[in-house]
Amino acid sequence: MKSTMPDYYEVLGVSKGATQDEIKKAYRKKALESHPDRNPGNPEAEKQFKTISEAYEVLSDEKKRQMYDHYGADAVHGYAGAGAGAHGYETMDEALRTFMGAFGGESVFDSLFGGGRGGREERGYAQQGASKRVNMNISFEEAIKGVEKELSITNYVTCETCNGKRTTSPSGIKRCNRCGGQGQVFEQRGFFSMSMACPQCRGAGETITDPCKTCSGDGRVKAKKRVHVRIPAGVDSGMRLKLAGYGDAGPSGGEYGDLYVYINVEAHEFFERQGNDIILDLPVTVVEAALGAKKEVPSFSPNIARITIPEGTQSGKVFRVKGEGFPNVHGSGKGDLLVRVFVETPTNLSEKQRSLLAEFATLEAPANFPRKKGFLDRVKDFFGGSSHS
Ligand SMILES: [Zn+2]
Ligand SMILES: [Zn+2]
Repeated sequence: MKSTMPDYYEVLGVSKGATQDEIKKAYRKKALESHPDRNPGNPEAEKQFKTISEAYEVLSDEKKRQMYDHYGADAVHGYAGAGAGAHGYETMDEALRTFMGAFGGESVFDSLFGGGRGGREERGYAQQGASKRVNMNISFEEAIKGVEKELSITNYVTCETCNGKRTTSPSGIKRCNRCGGQGQVFEQRGFFSMSMACPQCRGAGETITDPCKTCSGDGRVKAKKRVHVRIPAGVDSGMRLKLAGYGDAGPSGGEYGDLYVYINVEAHEFFERQGNDIILDLPVTVVEAALGAKKEVPSFSPNIARITIPEGTQSGKVFRVKGEGFPNVHGSGKGDLLVRVFVETPTNLSEKQRSLLAEFATLEAPANFPRKKGFLDRVKDFFGGSSHS
């Protein structure tokens, strides 16, 4: 019944040879005028809004426009399928969807509301599953050498009975009639229309009429999984490992999310980490420091680390043992072991030790304590100098 169909060019007020730009401009202008938000409870405006949206849907698509030009509106609607019924738009949702499309996916009303994000990506069934986070404590030594651990996690996995299709019968899945498969519907809220997930299909765009028995039509089930995690040597606290595909399965057969393992390296009783270097505070006696000594120092490698303390070593002096630190987790090379000596003042002295030390004191010469002498001289200069100026 071509005669009952309106002339789309006339409806939009453009010529037959109008460019896409002109068509869009004309539609946007008319659509804003007749938008239901501006004309609440006005059936004439509603009808007008549907008609121009329908016209725009056809003329903005070059293929449909050609069909329409040659064969008329009926041909287009038979061809168009989704979006337009055999007699043009039947519901306001269809018209509003076209309207959204003409405004770049995000309607002016939605952006005023701060709510709406553009439509298509939000369709439920393409969604990736959730990514997950687990925390893992490892020891200082495990961080140096690397370690393999097993994690036990409970995830959504794709249902094997239906392969995530949510139904086992080919006819058990139907395009949602409420939202026309878009997963979204439009709702009037005050002066604005908001898009929201379709309440009937919960955003999936499809309705399951014969849900899979195993997963009750969710397409996935919860399952415990053991995950083998290889933690590379050299990791540090705050680093995370990504195990791609070890998160939840997406709803309705979507892709798996990822699993992130956040590393926490426990503190060590003796060793401290600084970048890829390890710091060790090593106590030495006054005698060792004064006379010199060879010391074995604990390290994490099979070969024993040794340092030579020369005579006259002061507290705080650092000795570097090459390559005994953390391996570089991002590449090659290793940090060092930094041995920081501190001279321990003897306590709990016996009478004999006391008298020997007292005797030593009588033999002390300024050359034995160059820093002490230098320090006292500088203090004297400082106070003397400042009081005279
Ligand atoms: Zn299933
Ligand atoms: Zn729906």
